[in-house]
Amino acid sequence: MTHYTDKISIETSKTSKIDTVDFDNLDFGRLFTDHMFVCDYEDGKWQTPKVMPYQAMTFEPSARVFHYGQAVFEGMKAYKDDEGKVFLFRPKANFDRINKSSERLAMPAFPENYFFEGLEALLKLDSDWIQPGVGNSLYLRPFIIATEPAISASPANNYRFMIICSPAKSYYNAPVRVLIAEEYSRSADGGVGFAKAAGNYAAQFYPTSLAQEKGFQQIIWTDASTHSFLEEAGTMNVFFRVGDKLITAPTSDRILDGVTRKSMLQLAEDLGITCEVRRVTVEEIKTAAKEGELKEIFGTGTAAVISVISAFEHKGELFEIPEIEDSYAKLFKKTLLEIQHNISEDKHNWRYEIK
Ligand SMILES: *Cc1c(COP(=O)(O)O)cnc(C)c1O
Repeated sequence: MTHYTDKISIETSKTSKIDTVDFDNLDFGRLFTDHMFVCDYEDGKWQTPKVMPYQAMTFEPSARVFHYGQAVFEGMKAYKDDEGKVFLFRPKANFDRINKSSERLAMPAFPENYFFEGLEALLKLDSDWIQPGVGNSLYLRPFIIATEPAISASPANNYRFMIICSPAKSYYNAPVRVLIAEEYSRSADGGVGFAKAAGNYAAQFYPTSLAQEKGFQQIIWTDASTHSFLEEAGTMNVFFRVGDKLITAPTSDRILDGVTRKSMLQLAEDLGITCEVRRVTVEEIKTAAKEGELKEIFGTGTAAVISVISAFEHKGELFEIPEIEDSYAKLFKKTLLEIQHNISEDKHNWRYEIK
């Protein structure tokens, strides 16, 4: 059935796949809900957005995204509380960031009302896919690709904005062992590191696979020119706990401004934990580790919330970080999840209810 709200055309799916889903055994990002959101940019403007059944799409082989990687994306989650109310977490930050990413890739800004109306229409139709319970969520993937069929190397005239949704369960994620980058870089001064550009991820796969061959799951990225400052852990922002103090690098054009990172800084202030936002050198972290002062390293991001790092290697020297009882990682993860799931007070107005 097709009907129209003020601005969105909605075609609902005749059948639902939901009965075939084993919500206790989800393989992250492989399964998608019944609907998706689509909006095309043509003739210099974004056209009427559509919600339609999730389906394969056709593009010409010459679509520019395939050749020059003009593509940006976001990652966000929807949560359900025990009464069945659905919430997003700081969605305006994701909206602002996708447009910041787009600007850097010479792509047109997406309108705020379409972004929010699209999310709401989609989440209302697919709300059964959001399981209640802390740790369960619906992962939302907004993205934009250049669809114009022309392979001249210039920004496209046509784009497609889409949102697809995948049910996610936060499994206990095992601590990871990381290699500190000495040769490869994730981003450079003046580059696209701050943007959620699809190509940033592709560029990480090869060095990460080399690290994996050596028994490390991830890489801690350092600054491209000197490899002496610690910047991000894989595709997450990174925090170091030295003594009782947290340290994280300031955002820049090389470091992505993570919503989880931002929230962590506020929670640290709320919890009375000192967090220094400044450049962190590899040497100071090695020294802290040798002196027994390095208590924790963890990555932060929407997908895993917090990912604990249990060991790192630099210039052939291996450092193990023993697990501690009262870890900040556990405290922050619990605090954040309880806000996201409408269990605790939301004093910073981070929750956004889908009504
Ligand atoms: C998405 C991303 C993060 C985490 O951002 P969140 O908004 O917290 O999910 C951190 N670093 C990089 C490189 C990213 O792409």
